[in-house]
Amino acid sequence: MLLKQLLRNVYIMMTSNKKKPEEDCRNCSYKVIKGIRRCPYCGIMNPALKLKEVFFTIIVVLGVMSVVAYLK
Ligand SMILES: [Zn+2]
Repeated sequence: MLLKQLLRNVYIMMTSNKKKPEEDCRNCSYKVIKGIRRCPYCGIMNPALKLKEVFFTIIVVLGVMSVVAYLK
């Protein structure tokens, strides 16, 4: 099917140009793929996870919980 082929080509174009997003491991500072579960160099969990992001997530969760509690 032509449409399917076109979609496939678009998908290949979009994925092939893009480099895998990398971040520095927060422990050993080696480049690791973003979202990887464990650093392949030093072995810590979630090496690309920044402390700032963790705090942000906690604040968002707390905010949602307080809104839910308020609405009840
Ligand atoms: Zn590491």
